[in-house]
Amino acid sequence: MCGIVAYVGTKQCQNLLLEGLKRLEYRGYDSAGIATLENGRIRVVKTVGRVANLEDKLEEVGGVTGTMGMCHTRWATHGGVTTPNAHPHTDDKSGICLIHNGIIENYASLKTLLEEKGHRFVSQTDTEVLAMLIGELYEGDLEAAVQAALREVTGAYGIVVMCEKEPGVLVAARKGSPLMVGVGDGEHLVASDGSALISHTSRAFALEDYQVVKLTAEGFRTSTIHNVPVTPKVQQLEIELESIELGGYSHFMQKEIFEQPKSLRNTFRGRFVVEEGRVILGGLADHAKDLTKARRVVMLGQGTALHAAMIGRYLMEDLAKVPAVAEFASEFRYRNPIIEEGTVAIAVSQSGETADTLAALSEAQDRGALALGVINVVGSTMARQTDAGVYLRVGPEIGVASTKAFVGQVAVLSMIAMWMGRRRYMGASECGDLLRALEQIPSHIERILATDAQIRRVTEKYVDRENWLFLGRGYNYPTALEGALKLKEISYIHAEGMPAAEMKHGPIALINEGMPAVFIANKGRQYEKVMSNIQEVRARGGHVIAVATEGDESIRNYAEDVLFVPDIPEALSPMTTIVPLQLMAYHAAVLRGHDVDKPRNLAKSVTVE
Ligand code: GLU
Repeated sequence: MCGIVAYVGTKQCQNLLLEGLKRLEYRGYDSAGIATLENGRIRVVKTVGRVANLEDKLEEVGGVTGTMGMCHTRWATHGGVTTPNAHPHTDDKSGICLIHNGIIENYASLKTLLEEKGHRFVSQTDTEVLAMLIGELYEGDLEAAVQAALREVTGAYGIVVMCEKEPGVLVAARKGSPLMVGVGDGEHLVASDGSALISHTSRAFALEDYQVVKLTAEGFRTSTIHNVPVTPKVQQLEIELESIELGGYSHFMQKEIFEQPKSLRNTFRGRFVVEEGRVILGGLADHAKDLTKARRVVMLGQGTALHAAMIGRYLMEDLAKVPAVAEFASEFRYRNPIIEEGTVAIAVSQSGETADTLAALSEAQDRGALALGVINVVGSTMARQTDAGVYLRVGPEIGVASTKAFVGQVAVLSMIAMWMGRRRYMGASECGDLLRALEQIPSHIERILATDAQIRRVTEKYVDRENWLFLGRGYNYPTALEGALKLKEISYIHAEGMPAAEMKHGPIALINEGMPAVFIANKGRQYEKVMSNIQEVRARGGHVIAVATEGDESIRNYAEDVLFVPDIPEALSPMTTIVPLQLMAYHAAVLRGHDVDKPRNLAKSVTVE
């Protein structure tokens, strides 16, 4: 969470920092701040609200100058959304200035100690405690003071620090919260994600946990918090500028929904041969034997990634014939899970930084599970921690409400299930048939996207209703959950997703005249059952919006509105049935006047537990 950008070099850095920060605004956006070293003194400007508010404030005060500086967007954890709580934070003794992503868990005891030493705090944040601690330990060497302070703290941090007494020196460190270091020509940058670096340099490295880097314009030194030198691997960043810009779209979420055919083709490229019924997943090759003999699959995720994992569970059981479960990573982590021999844990995450999923993955690994990752961000913490994995390859996802990553996750999980199935029970022709259908999905999604105007009209009819139901069965029960989550996240409409059969066990009491109930009612094993559930809703005055299979004209007799999707095998259908639901959520948010890419209280990449 939160955005960090820092610069040391020869250029005036205010605008460069702000430009980077705007690219990271989706990571957290309740307040923003900047600090530069201006004529030997640290100058801080901060405010609540967006980066745009910070720009206004800078204009009011005539801007800041300097060739070294840092800026931050906050996603508050400790202390309300106020200007004093916004970052950067400074200490009251040594001229230290700091920005922080994460949580210092032992901040309370450290704060008491520092107060006893006479320090006075002006914010309620855990971050200010770290600034004071570094200041307290500072004896003329910023790098050493940061290392010493970090040896005292528990929790998660990605930090950047500077000190008035050491002009031209930035120190950054990480544990748990990602930080990238950009290596330029006569300049260096630090950012919480590569997209803020790419317009300056494409050479970068990721800091590892417990590592500290000291940066000047000319060079850098990397060490551990115990001051053991380490040599980072500088790599080429592979982010295309166009992939992190809006193009002609109004919002990133809209762009990413419409990008799905293209991103899915990338996910598939080179990964299967239809005619041979063969799936080729290079990332699994080293563990082929263990995976073939797997006795249980435990899939872990949160939010949208968990919904993809739940679909993955059905795929594993159906196509690979392996017992599988999908679980909230946060629950798995703390409930003393039993991991027997032959267990494969699959972590599903867009960012590869989700703290809950990372912690659950470590727990499963410690208990002997083979760890796979289904992750989008290459080189992310989770990707480095797993034994094997398959990247989504859907490109950067900027919209806070995940769309193309969800479809990519389901696609990858279906390929993994087929890869395992082929080695266990599935014949080449059966696999070939499924792969042929899989290959068609991008063009099916194109057809659905072409009905956008109709989806918007249907959404308009119901957008004023405050309570919605999303219902599905089998593979499309998780799709119902995901549809409800999308609507909640960006339009702030209360929505509940559930298995269609569950409704009559309680939630049916909610149905009143005109309540929208979205049914995923495509042709499948439980089609007739879904029809009965639709009748139950209609009998109580609910208005049914059905996502149905093209050609199923009779469904018009049961539903007020019908959104058609192409006819594909049920196991693969969530990749298409979700698309109208994504568009409905998008239109509902726009119609209600909400900021689609920056929904209230949310942040992309949840790096705190
Ligand atoms: N825990 C810190 C705060 O509440 C940092 C939050 C963030 O990651 O933005 O200020």
